[in-house]
Amino acid sequence: MNGDTPVMEIRGVGEKTAKLFGKIGIATVGDLLAAYPRDFEIFGEPVKIEGAAAGEVCAVYAAVCGIPNEKRVRNLSILNVNITDGSGNLLLTFFNMPFLKKTLRQGGYYIFRGLVQHRGAVKLMEQPKIFSVEEYRSQENQLIPRYALTKGLTNLTVRKCVRQALSFYNFEPEFYDEKMIRANGLLSRKEALEFIHFPADHDTLAQARKRLVFDEFFSFLFLLRKNKEFSEQLPNGYRLSETENVTCLLERLPFPLTDAQKKVWKEIRDDCESQYCMNRLIQGDVGSGKTILAVLALLLAAANGYQGAFMAPTEVLAVQHYETIREYAEKYGLIFRTQLLVGSMTGKAKREAYEKIESGEVNLVIGTHALIQEKVQYRSLALVVTDEQHRFGVRQRERLAEKGQAPHILVMSATPIPRTLAIILYGDLHISIVDELPANRLPIKNCVVGTAYRPKAYQFIAKEVEQGRQAYVICPQVEAEEGEQGDLENVVEYTEKLKSALPPKIRIAYLHGKMRPADKNRIMEEYGAHEIDVLVSTTVIEVGVNVPNATVMMVENAERFGLAQLHQLRGRVGRGIHQSYCIFVSSNEKKETMERLQILNRSNDGFFIASEDLKLRGPGELFGIRQSGDFAFRIGDIYTDAALLKQASEAVDMLLQEDPKLERPEHGYLRQHLVRAAANGVDFRTI
Ligand code: ADP
Ligand code: MG
Repeated sequence: MNGDTPVMEIRGVGEKTAKLFGKIGIATVGDLLAAYPRDFEIFGEPVKIEGAAAGEVCAVYAAVCGIPNEKRVRNLSILNVNITDGSGNLLLTFFNMPFLKKTLRQGGYYIFRGLVQHRGAVKLMEQPKIFSVEEYRSQENQLIPRYALTKGLTNLTVRKCVRQALSFYNFEPEFYDEKMIRANGLLSRKEALEFIHFPADHDTLAQARKRLVFDEFFSFLFLLRKNKEFSEQLPNGYRLSETENVTCLLERLPFPLTDAQKKVWKEIRDDCESQYCMNRLIQGDVGSGKTILAVLALLLAAANGYQGAFMAPTEVLAVQHYETIREYAEKYGLIFRTQLLVGSMTGKAKREAYEKIESGEVNLVIGTHALIQEKVQYRSLALVVTDEQHRFGVRQRERLAEKGQAPHILVMSATPIPRTLAIILYGDLHISIVDELPANRLPIKNCVVGTAYRPKAYQFIAKEVEQGRQAYVICPQVEAEEGEQGDLENVVEYTEKLKSALPPKIRIAYLHGKMRPADKNRIMEEYGAHEIDVLVSTTVIEVGVNVPNATVMMVENAERFGLAQLHQLRGRVGRGIHQSYCIFVSSNEKKETMERLQILNRSNDGFFIASEDLKLRGPGELFGIRQSGDFAFRIGDIYTDAALLKQASEAVDMLLQEDPKLERPEHGYLRQHLVRAAANGVDFRTI
């Protein structure tokens, strides 16, 4: 068995299971082994009922009191039974498991493991797992992997398949030389793959993770350096100089540029006139005003008679930019002839767009990835701006260069990372930082609350809406996955609940990732036009959406999010002149959880927030938690693994010094490995 062997060849995997694997992107044994666990379940020491906190998954050793009581509601059987361990009582509820009436003997002792909840004064667990003491002890303190699943595929199946795959796998020879392994303290790749799935303890898990993260960073950085060599020497084919149309916009804008914006605008102009092509990153926290810089640069291209393209990671955002720029153009008499190009347009509309782009009838194209696909032929593309750059691939530039004379590249990102890391991760770009917010902003007021606060929060939202403002309510995901606790708020259901809780004249709509793009765009447009007051949404709105009239951001299940992500969400409000508010609702009122969320109160610095978050978590918790979806490494996380990122960067530098073309025999396997990585599109900045 090797990486390319189809999963069907694993014993026990038939067509049905293979299909289910296919649904989650696993076709080969290689894919399976690279589908690292989401997290690990640890059967900890049972606790006293008295000390079991709501929101926590734990085990209790307790006796059944009384005979289980069965209720029937339509087709559903609901079984209730009380248990006690002397320190307190707990109510257990089981759905559709009537047979437990016989199994759970009155007075019998068992270990019950599940999520502790409070309902009034009653502590309860729904659907806990039941163990005999021996059963439980045999698994106690082991790290049991939990995988991303799909309906019909169980964790046990995946676990068995991974075990088998590991035992029959023909591991590729070690690709680093002895020196690299020793200098960086790495496990072998084989050990790492075994231990990432089945670690003996936390320490082995950390070691395994280290090797895999190092590999990922190493390949990425190596290819990045190569990319840099390529793009650094591109001559400037489009000298762009400032014209009246551009200065005119600057004079007529309703606000003066901040000093930071002015500084960056100058850097952009200098690049565009220099000997080489521009290749620049604008980094600036949410709300720092990056869009206007993009508009100015695009206007510069148009004013010099060329075309520009403005690319956004989502259709929602692309459409928003399109509307904003059209408004600007109308208001200030800009010379833009704009064209939208997104995946959800009809074939006919797309063909018409292609024609206008090719003939030069339009000089500004705004859209998603669709902009740089093969079918699009530009007449004179001089500048490509990408918003939220980290969501795009690093080699996009090469692809663009193949379209003719290489255009100037300007990318924008709100990922809060310190300069030292930015230099590593964006080694192929020059960096400009917008380190100042517009002066008219009021700091956002935050609060962290439990679910009991909801009615008050709703009242607050109603009050803001009455005053003409708008609100967002964020829920973690659309439907609970199999095996997931059912406590996640579901966007669609939540919207219904909210409708009955708020006055009927308040207009409420929802948005989630599984909706058709055209519907998403429509909802966002209506929200932007203030035809909707409250938007219930998943994190699809996290990236870049700008509705300055929105003043309330309420996040449900806030404990489920990384703090950096919450910080991004918070950035959706406080974008205008009105006082804005953030309400983080945690359904887990454990002290540590609340303390973690309180960090958001203390700081507005995204990187500080992410690093504090990590300090508060235990090593077991770290696994699988991502601070944000930026830099889609498979396992590495730029925050958690910042030190390792630097280490990998130094290792790449050293290698490139010693053997830049990897010609030495001891680098033969590494060369093969990297060539394969490049061919498989190691493109970790991709979604
Ligand atoms: P981001 O950097 O997050 O992309 P945007 O470019 O969307 O931020 O800007 C956020 C809001 O701030 C927009 O409504 C924009 O019009 C406004 N804005 C931008 N620059 C300034 C400025 N210098 N003074 C006041 N408001 C500004
Ligand atoms: Mg933006």
